[in-house]
Amino acid sequence: MFALKKPLESRQHTGSYYAATANWQNCYPPLTSEINADVVIVGGGFTGVNTLLELTERGYSCVLLEANRISWGATGRNGGQILGGIGHSHERFRPQIGETGVRALFDMGVECTDIIRQRVAKYSIGCDLRWGYLDAALKPRHMKEFEADKRWQEQMGYPYTLTLLDREEMRGHIGSDLYVGGMLNAHGNGHCHVLNLCIGEARAAEQQGARIFENSNVIRLVQGNRPRVYTDSGVVNAHHVVLCGNAYLGNLVPAMASRILPANSSVVTTAPLTAQQQHDLLPGNVAVCDPRTALDYFRLTADGRLLFGGLSNYTGREPGDLTGVMRQKMLKVFPQLQDVPLEYGWSGQMGIGINRMPQLGRLDGNVYYIQAYSGHGVAPTHMMARITAQMIAGQAERFDVFTRIKHWPFPGGPVFRTPCFALGMLYYKLRDMF
Ligand SMILES: Cc1cc2nc3c(=O)[nH]c(=O)nc-3n(C[C@H](O)[C@H](O)[C@H](O)COP(=O)(O)OP(=O)(O)OC[C@H]3O[C@@H](n4cnc5c(N)ncnc54)[C@H](O)[C@@H]3O)c2cc1C
Repeated sequence: MFALKKPLESRQHTGSYYAATANWQNCYPPLTSEINADVVIVGGGFTGVNTLLELTERGYSCVLLEANRISWGATGRNGGQILGGIGHSHERFRPQIGETGVRALFDMGVECTDIIRQRVAKYSIGCDLRWGYLDAALKPRHMKEFEADKRWQEQMGYPYTLTLLDREEMRGHIGSDLYVGGMLNAHGNGHCHVLNLCIGEARAAEQQGARIFENSNVIRLVQGNRPRVYTDSGVVNAHHVVLCGNAYLGNLVPAMASRILPANSSVVTTAPLTAQQQHDLLPGNVAVCDPRTALDYFRLTADGRLLFGGLSNYTGREPGDLTGVMRQKMLKVFPQLQDVPLEYGWSGQMGIGINRMPQLGRLDGNVYYIQAYSGHGVAPTHMMARITAQMIAGQAERFDVFTRIKHWPFPGGPVFRTPCFALGMLYYKLRDMF
């Protein structure tokens, strides 16, 4: 039963629940002249906007160029889950970054959610921020993974309480028979209206003097002492460039494109549910993920819809019957929603890297790039933006942890890397079945 409220794509923004409930207050103009700045940032998602805000707060003169609208990419389309941690499995990187690097990554994984907490409070950003998150186990082996993760986090000094739940306790937190147990993080992780968070962050930067241009697609970058960044109708001369186009950057810089693959994930929302239905599904109003590679993620929105997402494919293409596929996934978890219509459906692209650790680095002395959060970016984008701003301001320590991590290009070259990767991910999907 589908009654989609909007077409899947509109010219301005994706036809999402987020776009339909956005706190837009202004459109930013396109760039139409030649201007100067200390720093020019390419891409207006969480990474670009927060780099802009961090640098503007430090007194730099900054320009942001966004090809579409602020938050048009993954940032304005995602599941809205605010999850701490940077990348996946820090221990794997110990040989490259050592004990101090592992410690730094762990600390940044805590700081990244705190940045959102502080930013929302400091700038009074209305974005339906809620704390509370549940890891949901589909198999006993997942519970073992949660136990090990809890032990490790506690040894490292994680400041929030993690509570393991058995099957029966789990039923007190989620109205589904699918899960054998879970791990509750009631205060450290959470969820929010991501488009409104990013709009609020952009506004905070603008109010402090940052210049933002929408509909300003960067088509050329000329490196040098004073790099030049060209759009169709303007140029920015700057001392530093930060590339934050992530999965949508395309082939602007081929060396970056070879290390990232755009994977597609899709999201639907139901019509608003009654208070009783909301309580029956998620009485604590927490966000939920399962631990599979192609995971389900879901939460309630502030107006009482179930927002349900899943990783549909690794080819970067939107599935043909997006709402049909997603509806089946949702009903497996919550069969009681059989008669509830879906009102919005959309998808977006996330940048996946081979080792699933965000890629942060320098192309040249003064051109920086940030990309590849591999599906876990709402909070980490805030951290990467801060580290890059610190680097530009002369503090290299935390940036250097990332430059020590190797990021290999995907095999197969421009033509075969997507099919090679899709095949590789099929292996993980099959492994998740057992
Ligand atoms: C459907 C979906 C669900 C997700 N769910 C979650 C979740 O629940 N929790 C979580 O932590 N993470 C989630 N993620 C991942 C998270 O959304 C991303 O990691 C994060 O938003 C990346 O932000 P970004 O700013 O780096 O990239 P984006 O938000 O993709 O922004 C890049 C921007 O750059 C612009 N751009 C590109 N090229 C150019 C150019 N040449 N000139 C000018 N502008 C350009 C694009 O228009 C775009 O607006 C999800 C991702 C998707 C797609």
